Amino acid sequence: MSRARTVPAGNHGHRMDSGHPGRMASAPSGPVACRLMQQIIDAILQGAPGEELAAIALPESYKATVVLASEQTMFDGMESEDKDPRQALHLQEIAMPELAPDEAVIAVMASSINFNTVWSSIFEPVSTFGFLKRLGKESYWGARHDQPFHAVGSDASGVVLRVGSAVRKWKVGDKVVVHCNHVDDQDPSSHNDSMLGDNQRIWGFETNYGGLAELSVVKANQLMPKPAHLSWEEASVNALCNSTSYRMLVSRNAAQMKQGDAVLVWGASGGLGGYAVQYILNGGGTPVGVVSSPEKVGLLNDLGVEHVIDRRASNYKFWADEHTQDETEWRRLGKDIRSMIGRDVDIVFEHPGRQTFGASVFVAARGGTIVTCAATSGFMIEYDNRHLWMKLKNIISSHFANYAEAWAANQLICEGKIQPILSAVYPLEQTGEAAYQVHKNLHEGKIGVLCLAPSEGLGIDDPEFRAKVGEDRITAFRRHGA
Ligand code: NAP
Repeated sequence: MSRARTVPAGNHGHRMDSGHPGRMASAPSGPVACRLMQQIIDAILQGAPGEELAAIALPESYKATVVLASEQTMFDGMESEDKDPRQALHLQEIAMPELAPDEAVIAVMASSINFNTVWSSIFEPVSTFGFLKRLGKESYWGARHDQPFHAVGSDASGVVLRVGSAVRKWKVGDKVVVHCNHVDDQDPSSHNDSMLGDNQRIWGFETNYGGLAELSVVKANQLMPKPAHLSWEEASVNALCNSTSYRMLVSRNAAQMKQGDAVLVWGASGGLGGYAVQYILNGGGTPVGVVSSPEKVGLLNDLGVEHVIDRRASNYKFWADEHTQDETEWRRLGKDIRSMIGRDVDIVFEHPGRQTFGASVFVAARGGTIVTCAATSGFMIEYDNRHLWMKLKNIISSHFANYAEAWAANQLICEGKIQPILSAVYPLEQTGEAAYQVHKNLHEGKIGVLCLAPSEGLGIDDPEFRAKVGEDRITAFRRHGA
């Protein structure tokens, strides 16, 4: 990953006083900015109160992990597998944007790799610069996002450094985690379920100034309290995947799992699956996990998941060739599930997409539900509709989570009822390598990224509660990944 430190061309000159959206006026840059960043870090590590943090000037620019518009065709003609996030992700100094009245500036202590950063970095299925262009046309504030760089990342834990004039619930010094649902609260369509808002976006994927950076600019309605018993990196990995799994399984907006339900979870030790199996166990359900190695089977068994299928060992071939699915292979999976739990599953937790969707529809029980939020292996899906309608099954779509759902999911982390699934930690300089690990499916759970936090294990404010929850439970994935 390159470490270019120039402010990208085109960013200079957009100042608050120019009438154009851009960086904050009168803020120091260069070595002064470095000194200020160090002051911010020192103050946070020493537990300085909000007034002290507010007295430190914000630097004019900060380091962020970016993809560049000038490179968005760099992988044209290549297979997805061969596109390398390490080539496209750069750690680069970017200008601090002007703060909107409903926003906050966050000192990002840690962030995490989500699959959307893999998508951004391989420019698939589309380049994210189209999202930024559209946002840029919406308003004065939207225009700040349309830049020749895209600062990516959709998770963060950190400390509030500034709030806009319209922010009421949060103040400088608050320790927070950030969820990624970016909605315009003046849009009436976002007031029943904000995921249905016309202008709903994912922060750090469909907006700029994301979390894989030293600082970030977020809407105040993305903020949630940081779980006091977790370190910065443990706190940073949850919001995106935990909230998504919560909505898919628990919320009334999707599958509404009930006690006794059996649930097939694809990728059960991955980012979404690692939370899904916890919700199923907590909710009195029976998870049937699917993973791809004996080590992952062992990890899930340690978490209390009794029924786990190693898909690599079972060698399912749902597609006989590129155009033809093999129903006998769907039946083989169904038989394997029945041999484990004695019946079909009520819910299938779907996200691999094209490779598995036909099998998922087939193995769901009569009247069962396939809940889907993604299509990692391909979005042009094929399934046999007879198995859907004749057996009265439902396909339910789900996408991230509204604020209430994200808050509820975060509350469960705060109460020690859902555990972080952090398995590895990288420094900000190695975000490209971390994204590569996720792209190549070499990871388990979630990969954390240290941004301003100088080392692991910092930020734990409630060690007594941590001990009560249990170090072993909190660090189960980390110990396994080590
Ligand atoms: P992840 O950490 O990479 O985990 C996904 C797991 O799926 C992998 O560990 C792998 O497990 C399994 N998998 C991958 N390809 C597969 C295939 N062809 N067949 C069967 N299993 C396969 O990723 P994640 O964070 O869970 O995200 C998964 C997908 O959901 C991504 O496409 C992501 O963009 C999407 N997503 C969507 C939302 C949303 O709001 N809509 C939110 C989060 C994520 P094994 O190899 O162990 O089987």
